Amino acid sequence: MKRIGVLTSGGDSPGMNAAVRAVVRKAIYHDLEVYGIYYGFAGLISGEIEKLDRGSVGDIIHRGGTKLYTARCEEFKTLEGQKKGIEQLEKFGIEALIVIGGDGSFQGAQKLAEHGYPTIGVPGTIDNDIPGTDYTIGFDTALNTIIDAIDKIRDTATSHERTYVIEVMGRNAGDLALWSGLADGAETIMVPEVEDDMEDIISRLKRGHKRGKKHSIIVVAEGVGSGVDIGKEIQQKTELETRVTVLGHIQRGGSPTAQDRVLASRLGAKAVELLLAGEAGKMVGIEKNELVSHDINEILARKHILDNEMYELSKVLSI
Ligand code: ATP
Repeated sequence: MKRIGVLTSGGDSPGMNAAVRAVVRKAIYHDLEVYGIYYGFAGLISGEIEKLDRGSVGDIIHRGGTKLYTARCEEFKTLEGQKKGIEQLEKFGIEALIVIGGDGSFQGAQKLAEHGYPTIGVPGTIDNDIPGTDYTIGFDTALNTIIDAIDKIRDTATSHERTYVIEVMGRNAGDLALWSGLADGAETIMVPEVEDDMEDIISRLKRGHKRGKKHSIIVVAEGVGSGVDIGKEIQQKTELETRVTVLGHIQRGGSPTAQDRVLASRLGAKAVELLLAGEAGKMVGIEKNELVSHDINEILARKHILDNEMYELSKVLSI
């Protein structure tokens, strides 16, 4: 193998740049040529591809977003789109591909592998919703951004003696809500994996208020539903002044934390190692601080599981 490609796809996440850098540098270290494919699978189809050298990934390790840009591309879900992508790879003489993204991007990677094209996936998404890895690239940074925001909201919540509902990202996974809620001592954490009893939440809020609590923080994962609607219901039923903050895309940006930079560097380099070892159709991950790899097929068939022990602990600590 002489020439590989790398792309970022789906939602951007802080640390993707560090992963691209690791792929490029590790590949060059092993005398491979590396081509960057811009705008994910969309750029693969349209041929927005250029050679990267060690300098082209300089000064990006600390930057959020992705230097290769990203996109969502419906056309790549079709056989025709995938064929166009493979034609471009052949045109540029790219023999194998590393795809950095979330589970949707892995479906695209898997399609390429099924067409006989060696592809390795690197989990890059703030949602932490990919099985086979304890952490995804970007999760830690997003988590710290949320914590910073909740700390600030807590100050004003206490000053005004208000109830605050904070909606956080995570798609169908509750990890960002659970971790940030636990780290910030939220009174209630609502995650899509657990069905909540709204009446129980209301009576706990009322009890807390009677006991003299100055504020209450309720963290809601976007997968549960609209934070605005939940806030309205809480205000109506508790008669406590309630405000809602939807954190939105602020959670996706920012300079990656040390944890995400190191994770991205390790996973990016590991992906190149797998290609050099002749592997294909795999995803790299980290489990118990060990680098691992799994068949993408197996990962796509599995469901992400929320850490139940952590969830139970959050309930105990918020009595
Ligand atoms: P995130 O979870 O952070 O948003 P993601 O990778 O899951 O990231 P998606 O929008 O689901 O984001 O997927 C990214 C892209 O992967 C899609 O726009 C499409 O180009 C490709 N893709 C998704 N599903 C398939 C599929 N079934 N076949 C081929 N390609 C796919």
